[in-house]
Amino acid sequence: MLQLFDTATSTFTYILYDRPGGSAAIVDPVDTAAERDLAELQRLSLTLTHVLETHVHADHVTSAALLRKLTGAAVIVPANAGVAGADREVTDGDDIRFGEAPPLRVFATPGHTDASASYFWSGRVFTGDALFIEGCGRTDFQGGDAGALYDSVMQKLFSLPDETLVFPAHDYNGRHASTIGYERRHNARLAGRSREEFVALMGALKLPMPKLIDVAVPANLRLGAPARAQG
Ligand code: FE
Repeated sequence: MLQLFDTATSTFTYILYDRPGGSAAIVDPVDTAAERDLAELQRLSLTLTHVLETHVHADHVTSAALLRKLTGAAVIVPANAGVAGADREVTDGDDIRFGEAPPLRVFATPGHTDASASYFWSGRVFTGDALFIEGCGRTDFQGGDAGALYDSVMQKLFSLPDETLVFPAHDYNGRHASTIGYERRHNARLAGRSREEFVALMGALKLPMPKLIDVAVPANLRLGAPARAQG
């Protein structure tokens, strides 16, 4: 697996593969980093077969449509995300197979947005914005719901084995990975908090809107493809 970082938006993109020369899946690719991602695939002689989105991002535009055009990879999004043009929509418990690699397991983890997914693969979980290292994604737009996020993390993600590696969609503090066991014990927002306490905490955050939200959300609802000319 490769972990790649976009400094402009502090976004992690992951390239999943079991051996050089085999098939690969990419999680949450960023439009401005498409050349970098394609160069990494080429360097390892990987065939990109799947592009996975954890959710409709508000802070950056996906390169999913572009990567599909250039590689023929299938684009996978969480069901009911309102995305047009995906090749497959996945729900809780679905498996995604690529090449000879072990399958990915889909966990529906709504709360940051109304349709967010986490992907478990080979002892790792790619959590999108549901669970960060010592934090979690905000819940104040795109159908976000703090109570739903609490349930997703507590009932789904925290039920994974302690040693499961946590790879989030963002880190703003220079960290790269965590584990389920560490987050269950130490996550600053979730550990030791009741659902009610968590909902109150999230409701009091009053964060500024992401700079790109008005551009990114509509673009990501069409997988980052250029808008059709009007009229
Ligand atoms: Fe997000």
